[in-house]
Amino acid sequence: MSPKQVVAAADPYFPNNGDHRFHAHRYELTLDYRPGPNRLAGTARINAIAGVGAPLREFALDLADFRIGRVLVDGRAAHYTHRAGKLRIKPAKAPAAGAAFTVDVHWSGNPKPVRSPWGGLGWEELTDGALVASQPVGAPSWYPCNDRPSDKASYQISVTTPSAYSVVTGGRLLTRTTRASATTWVYDQPAPTASYLVGLSIGVYRPVPLTEPHGGGVPQTGYVPARLQPQFEHDFARQPQMMALFEELFGPYPFAEYTVVVADEELDVPVEAQGLATFGTNHVDGARRFERLVAHELAHQWFGNSVTISGWQHIWLNEGLAKYAEWLWSERSGGPSAHHKAEAAYRQVTAFPQDLRIGDPGRRLLFDDRVYERGGLTVHALRVALGDEAFFRMLRGWATLNRHSVVTTADFVAHVARSTDRPVGDLLTAWLDRPELPPFPVRTPPPPPAAPLRAAPATRFWLRRPSGS
Ligand SMILES: [Zn+2]
Repeated sequence: MSPKQVVAAADPYFPNNGDHRFHAHRYELTLDYRPGPNRLAGTARINAIAGVGAPLREFALDLADFRIGRVLVDGRAAHYTHRAGKLRIKPAKAPAAGAAFTVDVHWSGNPKPVRSPWGGLGWEELTDGALVASQPVGAPSWYPCNDRPSDKASYQISVTTPSAYSVVTGGRLLTRTTRASATTWVYDQPAPTASYLVGLSIGVYRPVPLTEPHGGGVPQTGYVPARLQPQFEHDFARQPQMMALFEELFGPYPFAEYTVVVADEELDVPVEAQGLATFGTNHVDGARRFERLVAHELAHQWFGNSVTISGWQHIWLNEGLAKYAEWLWSERSGGPSAHHKAEAAYRQVTAFPQDLRIGDPGRRLLFDDRVYERGGLTVHALRVALGDEAFFRMLRGWATLNRHSVVTTADFVAHVARSTDRPVGDLLTAWLDRPELPPFPVRTPPPPPAAPLRAAPATRFWLRRPSGS
């Protein structure tokens, strides 16, 4: 646990989520899911560490409205209450300050999304299957967790479901075992993962490899409704090139594999999860009309998933950088330049009211378009101010120095300041902390060609030539 995690206060936007009195570092989830009746039964083994200071007499997990079978701490039955999404636990013997301990929870019921201003979050039952899209606070809709983005943990997830369905989650598929009519899929994600980024899809999908089995780079695979395979193969054909570009610009891909699911349902927007992204059928048209979203979701593997915000007020760090990655992909793949994309975004943002500070947009406007577009513009303004060489060094440094870590906007501002001799504090304050839109970043014109020397008669030059040379 980093000191940052110990001292962090409750999330200002979601103070009821997460518990800072302990750190969960590994979840082992064993789930049984029946798609027809939408019935989920699970057991969780959570490996955790008590905070420093005092014995952990009480702590809480976030978990929606399920029937609780039992709760054990270090193998002993614990006293608990469960209401309003909080499973409050009093261990029979309090773990000592800083000590490792385990929690086991058994739960079952009919999972349903957590209601929010942005619609349902978390577990979503589909016409034939289910998916999970938790950002920002939907994770407790399906498993008990310390639901704050700064509390990253490794995961092993085992899901048993009827054999006709595929189970896809971030991480490596360890085993797939069929008994009678049910199949158990076991995945492992060793990289630190925020609870909102634990993704899951259950559906009738066909695996489509996007990379050669033994080619370079991490394996990339799609899970797609069979009827959409031809369109998918066209629309995602350039994802391996995108991966290569982003590795060049942002540093090595942070995880061991990358999987995309096209859920058999229309979705408002694609959603990122650790090592995984989920698209809707409406994002696949066989004409690459949504390729910018393919780039956006892939970029989140660096910005959001590996480098994770410690609290939701820093959301622009995820969305501004993923937006800018869209523009970089455009620029580097033969489309309009990032500058051109920024000009279009600026026109778009100009039409909105200038009453949002994207560095702390408030809970209600967390996913406002301005966070994305003005976020991308902020990154572009930095590029213009720093120049390409320093800008790309700064960007790659941000992703690599903070790999698998937790960050704030203040960390970013400090990182930028360390990356350049130019004063950029006022520029970042104007873009992030003030509502009014700063002027569009003007590229310093390249230094004019050296003024032509006053035309002198050639003869004069020759006359002045030192003798002997
Ligand atoms: Zn995004």
